[in-house]
Amino acid sequence: MKAHDGMYIDGAWRPASGPDVIEVVNPADEQVIAEVPAGTAADVDAAVTAARAALAGWAATPPAERSARLAALRDVLAARKDEIAETVTAELGSPLPFSQAVHASVPIAVAGSYAELAASHAFEEKVGNSTVYQEPVGVVGAITPWNYPLHQIVAKVAPALAAGCTVVLKPAEDTPLTAQLFAEAVHEAGVPAGVFNLVTGRGPVAGQALAEHSGVDLVSFTGSTAVGRRIGAAAGAAVKRVALELGGKSANVILPSADLARAVNVGVANVMGNSGQTCSAWTRMLVHTDQYDEAVELAAAAAAKYGDRIGPVVNAAQRERVRGYIDKGVAEGARIVAGGSEVPRDRGYFVSPTVFADVTPDMAVAQEEIFGPVLTILRYEDEDDAVRIANGTVYGLAGAVWAGDAEEAAAFARRLDTGQVDINGGRFNPLAPFGGYKQSGVGRELGAHGLAEYLQTKSLQF
Ligand code: NAP
Ligand code: MG
Repeated sequence: MKAHDGMYIDGAWRPASGPDVIEVVNPADEQVIAEVPAGTAADVDAAVTAARAALAGWAATPPAERSARLAALRDVLAARKDEIAETVTAELGSPLPFSQAVHASVPIAVAGSYAELAASHAFEEKVGNSTVYQEPVGVVGAITPWNYPLHQIVAKVAPALAAGCTVVLKPAEDTPLTAQLFAEAVHEAGVPAGVFNLVTGRGPVAGQALAEHSGVDLVSFTGSTAVGRRIGAAAGAAVKRVALELGGKSANVILPSADLARAVNVGVANVMGNSGQTCSAWTRMLVHTDQYDEAVELAAAAAAKYGDRIGPVVNAAQRERVRGYIDKGVAEGARIVAGGSEVPRDRGYFVSPTVFADVTPDMAVAQEEIFGPVLTILRYEDEDDAVRIANGTVYGLAGAVWAGDAEEAAAFARRLDTGQVDINGGRFNPLAPFGGYKQSGVGRELGAHGLAEYLQTKSLQF
């Protein structure tokens, strides 16, 4: 795999400030495939300085020109999509068809959506005797995880650039090659020097330096709740804007009138896709007590079919974490009907697609984000019970509701404390706001709501 040995700062690849490197490992075979520099506070400072210097020029660039650069970025990502898919597969481990269909494709759609929004958004409006301007917040520090490595970068950088902000990105240490490829794409798209900067490195060093840098006006973070909480606290102390996209423990509620087999099969696929490493995955399936045994049987069969098609999880620590949760579920009294914690292959960080039945709402496997291919199935007695169980975690990121008709499902969905709900298998919409209720986060990504995160308002009275 191709790797740069420097940081992309101020429009060029520059030597890193220190000698430390990060080895990039292919999770499917545990081989080191590349190394990239591990940035320090000095690299972050250089990148923030470049972003600050570029801010006035980019903020004053007409939205139509910002839109043109984003359209060019979309086109470069589209032209290089095979290379993107191969890179994601190499460093994240997701099977190539999934990398092509999701990891490489979704960011093209999102970049395209912001090319359009930059051109069409009303950055100025009249309110009585005032003119209200929407102005860029300033320099953005973007900190991203590894589970959807390009999507999570584009979901921050594209709206930031559309708004007229400049960016310093610190990607996850497990997936820096995708981030380097993205930096190349930004360069090819003709985005001016300093508008986008990349510092690869470790979270507690480069990530923390970026989150705490006084030259950063807004920190946009996606990742664990533990780190998100620290970043939010630091941003609060500095009185700077923060967006947090954290974990989830979403419910897939199957109402008695639903097509049970379809709801279960789509539900299992939703959890097993990307090896369960999806923050919005429906990891709790809620089934009416009368249909419970049938649903468990269907889910076990669907999970078993995944057996050898599933990719590894991202690294050894993540595998051990997931296996630990599976053992904990057994210890808590849940019943394994597919998979288990045994390591299924000698090489690679694989975990068997696992399904737990007889899960009760208070168990750790029903409360905590496992971030692996593990589905829990809970039973409910009636609709109120289902609402209570669905809402009974600290999270509120996503969910699904299935019923005989969309109206019945939608009425139930309105009772859920969560940011987005798919009705009877509704498709992903790259323009719909994505983000959490409760401890799943602060702020929204994607579409016009995602753009608003990067804007602040100024009113002039006449
Ligand atoms: P994480 O540590 O929160 O990583 C997210 C990003 O934050 C990475 O770029 C990370 O850098 C960086 N980071 C880490 N410590 C930091 C600090 N003190 N200051 C600033 N930035 C910091 O998440 P993880 O360790 O990769 O995964 C742990 C768990 O988080 C998972 O098991 C899962 O439950 C959850 N998670 C959720 C999402 C989501 O989409 N909501 C995504 C990934 C993980 P490094 O890569 O160098 O650590
Ligand atoms: Mg980490």
